[in-house]
Amino acid sequence: MTYKCSKCNEDITSSEYKYSTKNFKAPLCRTHQKQYSDISNSNSTKAPSSQKTSKKEEVNAISKRDSSFVENMIKGRIAETLIEELFLYLDY
Ligand SMILES: [Zn+2]
Repeated sequence: MTYKCSKCNEDITSSEYKYSTKNFKAPLCRTHQKQYSDISNSNSTKAPSSQKTSKKEEVNAISKRDSSFVENMIKGRIAETLIEELFLYLDY
């Protein structure tokens, strides 16, 4: 019995067929096996990297929020000081 690649109809050996159906759930020649493994590899490497960026964005958002909190605190203190000096100036 001859085995054929399900993508390009190329003849494949029985061991290639066994390997391919086991790993890719379809009979594939070596060329298409490589394509399939490249796809699954790029998918598996893509997933954690996108998680990394979302985590980084999260950290950026937190630090942004922190810096605006600090900014508001400083503005509040400046306003307090200004009012205090204004009261002193007006001799209250
Ligand atoms: Zn093929």
